[in-house]
Amino acid sequence: MLKKFTQDLVYCAYCPKLCRFACPVTNAERRETVTPTVKLNLLDLVRKGAVDLDEDIAEIMYRCAGCLTCRAYCKHRIDVPSVIEHARELAVNRGAEPEQLARHIETFSESRNPYGPALPKKLEGLDPALAKHIGAKSDTLYFIGCATLFHYPGIATAIGRMLEAAGMDFAVHADAETLCCGTPALFSGAADDMRQNAKRLAEVFKNYKTVITGCPSCLASFKIKYPQHGIEMKTRFLHSTEFAASLLREGKLKPAGQYGERIMYHDPCHLAKYFGIYEEPREILRALFPAENLIEFSWNRDKNYCCGGGGLLPVTAPRTAKAITNKRLEQFVERKPDMLVTACPTCQRTFHRAAPDMKAADVISLLAEKL
Ligand code: SF4
Ligand code: SF4
Repeated sequence: MLKKFTQDLVYCAYCPKLCRFACPVTNAERRETVTPTVKLNLLDLVRKGAVDLDEDIAEIMYRCAGCLTCRAYCKHRIDVPSVIEHARELAVNRGAEPEQLARHIETFSESRNPYGPALPKKLEGLDPALAKHIGAKSDTLYFIGCATLFHYPGIATAIGRMLEAAGMDFAVHADAETLCCGTPALFSGAADDMRQNAKRLAEVFKNYKTVITGCPSCLASFKIKYPQHGIEMKTRFLHSTEFAASLLREGKLKPAGQYGERIMYHDPCHLAKYFGIYEEPREILRALFPAENLIEFSWNRDKNYCCGGGGLLPVTAPRTAKAITNKRLEQFVERKPDMLVTACPTCQRTFHRAAPDMKAADVISLLAEKL
């Protein structure tokens, strides 16, 4: 299973750890064992048969937020999280995964999502203005994603409102068995469960020309992870901010007025680093806020800093995850803006949990309010 990564593993073995200083897990834990380099060096030894992927090595593989920061500094552009996902699958196949994942894996396997039977029930509470698009005939499908539906159905309402304001017809995906793209299963190492969701969704998506989602991890699944697992589709996949920015450019969306708050935009890792989508959210924000109210984190765009919520890190290493979140929030607290803005339900949720009194919002929700 690791053979297909041989070149990456060999490059890493001879690299002077160019990415080391940037890894948020390494910075939080302050130990060499969890650097991207050492993780891949260990996997190279596993590939050569020199060591077994036992519980100790598996534990290290689960200390990755999947943030791709290492790739931003890697001359070979090695996608470390993708190698690590395969290592986690190996660990699960051998029963070497950390114990605290058992409930997560079981819930996904039984309910096809990480939240269990409570997730499809959330469909009943969808805003009627959005729910009326379920089953509609259209070339365009809006895929809500499990984290948005469970934690922030208001983001789904906002995306629906934005599409309606642009005069678009669209359908909403609401099949209880495929409300999740499968990323949480992939991160846990239960990749078979992800592949099952992927195959079912590929059958759905083949009926649409375009699928829009507001979740960067769903987008990464559809465009990167599914093909890595042999599931290719011809459908065009777009993030909501990408789509909204193009609608603004074409004059199909005309926000009425601007906000007065000072904000900081946090780039979601998958959006910025897998897809390079960092100007589009800023384009939308420039239409909604005066330029002087837009404050940047010093680590931004494709060199942003992780929120700490990715890669199931809050389940497998909660103290590390919290330290990463706090590190990201340090600069926010220093600059004292009125609101943190992002374009990912998981980032928003992670910040909300760490700082419940902090105002955090989603780009499209802010846009929809002005339409
Ligand atoms: S993906 Fe992020 S957390 Fe994982 S090894 Fe790379 S920099 Fe570290
Ligand atoms: S991921 Fe790239 S930069 Fe980091 S150690 Fe490996 S080869 Fe070097």
